[in-house]
Amino acid sequence: MGKPMSFDIRKTHKGLGVFAARSILRGDRVLEFKGERCSKEVYKSCNTPDNCHFLQIDDDTYLGPSGEADDYVNHSCDPNCGVRYSGGRIFLHAIRDIANGEELSFDYSTTMDEDHWEMKCRCGSKECRGTVRDFKHLPENVKKRYIDLEIVPPFILKKVL
Ligand SMILES: [Zn+2]
Repeated sequence: MGKPMSFDIRKTHKGLGVFAARSILRGDRVLEFKGERCSKEVYKSCNTPDNCHFLQIDDDTYLGPSGEADDYVNHSCDPNCGVRYSGGRIFLHAIRDIANGEELSFDYSTTMDEDHWEMKCRCGSKECRGTVRDFKHLPENVKKRYIDLEIVPPFILKKVL
């Protein structure tokens, strides 16, 4: 491992966001999702879905909020990071070089297969799909790109392959 990562958590038009506080190289492990495992029932009981910071990790399992930077990484339809599993732990990896000061993002659709939640997207990228929905609804070329980048979690991958 190289130098420890450091971030700034700042307000954006989408709520809080996480910004690189140094340059990050493609392939670098950026942060770990460290919330507690909980059931889909607990997740669904959350009152404010847009702000409750859950990460789906299996059909009926989620990671809850950790209170740290991993709660505040925003969605983008043209992300600079993706979620990878390694040795039972879950990390955010850079999928391209990221400049100091750039906002970190991943595509929430890469981790969603729940038939429960979707949101209007305000990511502002040229690739914006307008709505964030489950992985299965992504265009085929986008699915393939994410699978090739190895940022689709096993519980979703096993249904597509
Ligand atoms: Zn978008």
